[in-house]
Amino acid sequence: MVKPEKLIENGIRLDGRKPDEIRPIKIKVGVLNRADGSCYFEFGGNKVIAAVYGPREVHPRHQQKSTSAVVRYRYNMASFSVEERKRPGPDRRSIEVSKVSREALEPVIFQEYFPRSAIDIFVEVLQADAGTRTAGINAASIALADAGIPMKSLVSACAVGKVDDTLVLDLNKDEDNYGQADMPIAMTPDGKITLLQMDGHLTRDEFREGLEMAKKGCLEIAQLQRTALMEKYSSLMEGEVNE
Ligand code: UDP
Repeated sequence: MVKPEKLIENGIRLDGRKPDEIRPIKIKVGVLNRADGSCYFEFGGNKVIAAVYGPREVHPRHQQKSTSAVVRYRYNMASFSVEERKRPGPDRRSIEVSKVSREALEPVIFQEYFPRSAIDIFVEVLQADAGTRTAGINAASIALADAGIPMKSLVSACAVGKVDDTLVLDLNKDEDNYGQADMPIAMTPDGKITLLQMDGHLTRDEFREGLEMAKKGCLEIAQLQRTALMEKYSSLMEGEVNE
């Protein structure tokens, strides 16, 4: 797509959102039978699936840690998920996204409960529209809980950025491509930041204000994550009671 003349007009973005609005979210918990925990997550035009396996044996064995679990995270973009076909397999970007996403989740996982074992997280991007790393982290956090991995809290993620000199929450593809800044953030519901990256430039005040916007977005997402998990497990419990 060519650069639109304006990304914001009269305070409304091209997709109809206000600057501080996140895109619509759809969550389904427990979508894969063979995973210990899983989640399908839609975040606007992003569609991702997260699968969690473990705690399980570590292969190769030399990756084992004697006092805690190893957490491994593989982010993968399907070749059909983007406008211009992506060459299959890992690349620099997916290795970086995998690393920062793992680091965004590790602080909430009680890794010391499972020495010599692995907790494996796989995130598959089926459709991308900017914000896939945040969608992946949101999905993975739910899939970890679904797998019964002991966690201090959930982690929620969304980006904040700047387009047409205005701070906006949760950038879409055009805003990401043609905007002035993009800052993906992940945090716990009590505001502990576990991921913060930035592309582009923000002033100190914009950074502070952006952080507050991201906090609000993450809290909204945390609520939806909780609701999705509660829905699955309360309906399972109802089933047990009715049996
Ligand atoms: N993208 C693409 N091809 C690629 C990598 C990315 O078309 O090989 C698009 C995709 O829509 C992605 C967006 O560019 O969501 C922004 O990518 P970025 O690296 O900022 O990561 P993201 O915002 O998805 O976490």
